[in-house]
Amino acid sequence: MTATPPRPRDIVIVGASLAGVRAAETLRAEGFTGRLTLVGNERLTPYDRPPLSKGFLTAEHDPPATRLPVSDELRARWLLGRTAVALDLRDRAVTFSDGARLRYDGLVIATGATARPSAGPPAPSSGVFTLRGHDDATRLRGALARGRSLLVVGAGFLGGEIAAAGRARGLDVTLVETGAAPLERVVGPEVGAFVGMLHREAGIDLRTDTAVTEFRTTADGSLSGARLTDGTEVTADAAVLALGALPATDWLSDSGLRTEGGVHCDTRLRALALDGTPVPDVVVAGDVARAPQPLADGTPMALGHWTNAVDQAVTAARTLLRGADSPAFDEVPSFWSDLHGVRIRSVGLPAVADTVKVHEIDTSTRRLEASYHRAGRLVGALTIGRTSRLAAYHRSLAEASRAHHRAV
Ligand SMILES: Cc1cc2nc3c(=O)[nH]c(=O)nc-3n(C[C@H](O)[C@H](O)[C@H](O)COP(=O)(O)OP(=O)(O)OC[C@H]3O[C@@H](n4cnc5c(N)ncnc54)[C@H](O)[C@@H]3O)c2cc1C
Repeated sequence: MTATPPRPRDIVIVGASLAGVRAAETLRAEGFTGRLTLVGNERLTPYDRPPLSKGFLTAEHDPPATRLPVSDELRARWLLGRTAVALDLRDRAVTFSDGARLRYDGLVIATGATARPSAGPPAPSSGVFTLRGHDDATRLRGALARGRSLLVVGAGFLGGEIAAAGRARGLDVTLVETGAAPLERVVGPEVGAFVGMLHREAGIDLRTDTAVTEFRTTADGSLSGARLTDGTEVTADAAVLALGALPATDWLSDSGLRTEGGVHCDTRLRALALDGTPVPDVVVAGDVARAPQPLADGTPMALGHWTNAVDQAVTAARTLLRGADSPAFDEVPSFWSDLHGVRIRSVGLPAVADTVKVHEIDTSTRRLEASYHRAGRLVGALTIGRTSRLAAYHRSLAEASRAHHRAV
């Protein structure tokens, strides 16, 4: 099953967004001249998601989607507004919700992720939002324009940005977080406390170590607020559940691929069958992929990072064309977030660290630099307002990734 496949003539990409489009462009750039089909369940032409929790929410006039630049050289067939519901590896076919089947001899899985639903108390049918796509952002933007108070549940990167957008629009914002500080599990307590300070300075009512126990509604069923585990109540006419994302693998549940926590794949991003062997004609890229991470000793992880989706798309497309001769994926993860006028940037995998070293922390200039280590080795770095410091960390992490690949 691991032999190099014959060069495919007919490639289907499921997921027509960032990773899907970049995979398509790489296939053409690498000389693929066969038939290329992009399937996506959204109707819009591909757009970029990061602005949806930032400038899109604060823009003065109704903003259009930020279109993803797509190469003119694609010569692709676009099937938009079509949902894939099943994959048949033996017949090499994707089935759609209307029963139609599409055959392939090379497949790219790039279906991204969906907003994680709440495991908490039942939410009223109006006034409570999640944010993943353009439609969600349009609905939320409307609620922010109409509303006076906003409750954001979850102070991760997405929740933090949405809270900041609500505040920038002049709403009273409450940000509720179960941890002791925003992002603490990902960036450590000191950096988390610094981010908490940024929120509080902006006038956000940050409640840590707490969760929502009940949503409150008015007589007509509209959201009016919530009760928290500490017994207090907050007022809100809109709420956003920002609880993270789940890889979009539902359509693959009977496919014979390993899909828990994302589509598992090998270092060349070939999807893994249930018995752990790579499927040579199926590759995976972006938020849906659970790939071995060199900086975490090869532990498979799914990352919700824009650059990861782009980098993996390139490797996945090359693997489809070159099989086992293609290079392994060893790009260093990187991430950014814009918060209250400062840019947070990270490289590597701060979340897997056992030790955090804070090299600079200055609340007055809002600057911070921290490095992250695991068993004594550098695994990541994070800056706030100090982006230029990351290049040196990036070089060290790239060398560590390559060393891991040489060692296995
Ligand atoms: C609001 C928001 C803000 C973000 N901000 C940042 C940021 O500041 N920095 C950063 O690094 N990253 C950010 N990200 C993450 C970044 O946008 C993602 O990592 C990136 O979009 C992943 O691209 P993807 O192509 O893998 O998945 P997606 O962009 O999720 O695309 C997957 C596509 O597949 C479609 N699809 C799913 N299932 C099916 C199916 N069964 N059939 C057909 N089509 C299907 C989806 O509808 C979607 O169009 C943000 C994400 C969001 C949602």
